[in-house]
Amino acid sequence: MKILVINSGSSSIKYELFDMDQRRALSSGLAEKIGEPSSILTHQYLTARGDKKKIVEKAEITNHYQGLQRSVDLLMDPRHGVIGHRSEIAAVGHRVVHGGEFFQASTRIDDRVMAAIRQCIALAPLHNPANLMGIEVACKIFPKAAQVAVFDTAFHQSLPNYAYLYAIPVELYEKHKIRRYGFHGTSHAFVAEAAAAFLSRPLTQLNLITIHLGNGASMCAVRGGKSVDTSMGLTPLAGLPMGTRCGDIDPSILLILADRVNMSFGDLDKMLNKKSGLLGLCGVNDMREVIRKKQAGDKQAKIALEVYTYQVKKYIGAYCACLGHVDALVFTAGIGENSPVVRELCCRNLQALGIEIDDEKNHDSADGIRQISSRNSKVKVLVIPTNEELRIAQETQRVIGG
Ligand code: AMP
Repeated sequence: MKILVINSGSSSIKYELFDMDQRRALSSGLAEKIGEPSSILTHQYLTARGDKKKIVEKAEITNHYQGLQRSVDLLMDPRHGVIGHRSEIAAVGHRVVHGGEFFQASTRIDDRVMAAIRQCIALAPLHNPANLMGIEVACKIFPKAAQVAVFDTAFHQSLPNYAYLYAIPVELYEKHKIRRYGFHGTSHAFVAEAAAAFLSRPLTQLNLITIHLGNGASMCAVRGGKSVDTSMGLTPLAGLPMGTRCGDIDPSILLILADRVNMSFGDLDKMLNKKSGLLGLCGVNDMREVIRKKQAGDKQAKIALEVYTYQVKKYIGAYCACLGHVDALVFTAGIGENSPVVRELCCRNLQALGIEIDDEKNHDSADGIRQISSRNSKVKVLVIPTNEELRIAQETQRVIGG
């Protein structure tokens, strides 16, 4: 069975085609700068011999329909395609950022589901409209394929109310659904399942702390396979400091800046989402750059790395308290998978919580899942590459009963 996964952004469409029988990706690509003259379509595919090839097309893509259509043409192109006809694609799995309280799980898309995703636009004004656009064009291009929505928020719908309610007037929750939702659900769920398989233990019997450190960053306390707390909130701005996002701050900062510095709503939005995090602290948002600058003696980069890893460490402590007993910590995503320096700083001096990293294992850059905790560590520390697209494909297959 072949499943196409689509992640539609406001000016981009990311796609990946999976052969579920062989459990491998046949092709992936990105149409970006849609609506601009300088649009780019990057298409990667596996040849019959199993080699990876890439082609880049530079020509204007006027809208999302055209973007997906061109991508599908490439998937079927006899020179560098991987399927003969679009009817080979049994289902399309869509990443949808916000499912509000409507969706506890992935679901087949129909008019009611579309209406509910539309209702969640107020909670994710930047993401849900773009996700809807992706669904609409996929329905046109693949009218016979099943369409499935996989939500970033669904995994966290198991949070207890004391973890998701903010201590603000309760009418704001009742009338406007202001609460913690959490994000990166597909990633946290994927690595939690992978951890259970790696440890040869049933997921239902494990307590895990999953730590997704990429451009965005979030953590999750997972009890028996269910999310019981997570660091992101109503939006993906809360929790850990990120590349350009601030994470948790005192909400009064906004009141003070609006009042004393006369910053507008737009200024504040830009400052919190685009100019904060690592970038705000040391001028660069890529962790590799931060580490390079710190090693070259840059004081701001040093403090940025300390702020970043200190917050991760605080959340590890908080989630140990929340779970009571922890079987494993799991590091994942760009920084979590690739940076021994960050992992070491996040876990330093946590022996009292039963967490100890083995320096040599931590610096081993082998591919795949690996255990980096020391022999004495009561809590296993794992590095697990995430694969959100594969998880969306698996969820899509599950929903259509494949
Ligand atoms: P992601 O959003 O999961 O793709 O993660 C992207 C981020 O991973 C980039 O912004 C980099 O900061 C970070 N990253 C990738 N490789 C490394 C590395 N070797 N060391 C530190 N950070 C890395």
